[in-house]
Amino acid sequence: MQFNQLPLSKLILRAIVEEGYETATPIQAMAIPHIMEGRDLMGCAQTGTGKTAAFALPILHHLAETPRPGKGKGPRCLVLAPTRELAGQIAESFQAYGRHMSLRGAVVFGGVSQHHQVRKLQAGVDVLIATPGRLMDLGNQGYVDLTQLEVLVLDEADRMLDMGFIPDIRKIVAKTPKERQTLMFSATMPAAIRDLANGLLKNPEYVQIAANSATADRVEQAVYFVDKKDKPAMLTHLLESLSITRAIVFTRTKHGADKVAKFLQQENVPSAAIHGNKTQSQRERSLSAFRAGKVHVLIATDIASRGIDVDGVSHVFNFDLSNDPESYVHRIGRTARAGESGKAISFCDAEERAFLSAIQKLIKMDITILTDHPDHVPTGMAATMRPGDGPRNRKGGRGGGGGKK
Ligand code: AMP
Repeated sequence: MQFNQLPLSKLILRAIVEEGYETATPIQAMAIPHIMEGRDLMGCAQTGTGKTAAFALPILHHLAETPRPGKGKGPRCLVLAPTRELAGQIAESFQAYGRHMSLRGAVVFGGVSQHHQVRKLQAGVDVLIATPGRLMDLGNQGYVDLTQLEVLVLDEADRMLDMGFIPDIRKIVAKTPKERQTLMFSATMPAAIRDLANGLLKNPEYVQIAANSATADRVEQAVYFVDKKDKPAMLTHLLESLSITRAIVFTRTKHGADKVAKFLQQENVPSAAIHGNKTQSQRERSLSAFRAGKVHVLIATDIASRGIDVDGVSHVFNFDLSNDPESYVHRIGRTARAGESGKAISFCDAEERAFLSAIQKLIKMDITILTDHPDHVPTGMAATMRPGDGPRNRKGGRGGGGGKK
């Protein structure tokens, strides 16, 4: 579907053209008409499907077409998101699509001083994007007035559940008018999310993008069975031999992420790590270096990676497999975004075999199994591989100790 077939305001259509979008993604084509009709909506879709524009465009349209009722300064639209990264990215999207409109936006999240955020709220905002914790803090201090709210969006609701935000969300919702429009997006639909949806949404429209076909089908996936101790050397080898534009390396723990960062540093592979132990400014520095292409390798844990919106990630490495199969789908969804292709390479040690089975069951696909010789990489991955070139340091070289703890 072309965007100009949607009855969106000209100001928004112009911004979309400037963004270089031509056709609406499936979630956009399905969700936008319902949202424009004022319906509540439950969208089952993950990041990378274009879901931000799916809610941002019709909301901006509503704000453009309907003047603010009354004189208040409180937000007309509130978007709740689990992480500061995601909140920041949603704010950027609203800014981009709304660039020809005169709307006031603010984004509030924790980990930084609240001073600037409070000033923005006091000046008045139309669109507020927030993580639940900081919004509660500011609300408790009397800085947030949700009485004029017209549209509420809960983005990545399943991650907000994982992160323990549901009680805060319920308290926030209780402060909003009952006659609001509510939109909820979630990659997965556990019972707790269905309960939340039942309580918050009125006669909602359901829109679902099959997670598996949205991402797993487009990503070329392979797994190496490797000993735990060989993982670091294997990673270095692959990073050096494959044609990598940008790679994200996932580890299960923060400690694991630091170990990989250290190992890569020893091997002179520039990388940046983001995880919960890093300060906000460290995380932002790492992300912007990665986005700008100054470092090609980003090491991340699942939580820290939520909502990272970087195009052109050519490879995802699962240095560790997660015991949560859905996080595999989230991880590989960081590549092959917006129609690009991508490759996901997983390392599976003896202890992780059961995790692999669970993943294959969820995605209903067999992942190509490679031997632990990196010469055997799938078609298209081997372009720059040197024949017979095994991973360095496999036999007790200096890097071999990287994974023995
Ligand atoms: P999201 O799922 O909202 O994180 O969006 C994923 C990426 O797709 C973002 O980089 C968007 O800028 C991009 N995108 C969203 N909608 C479209 C579209 N209709 N055409 C091309 N790119 C898009």
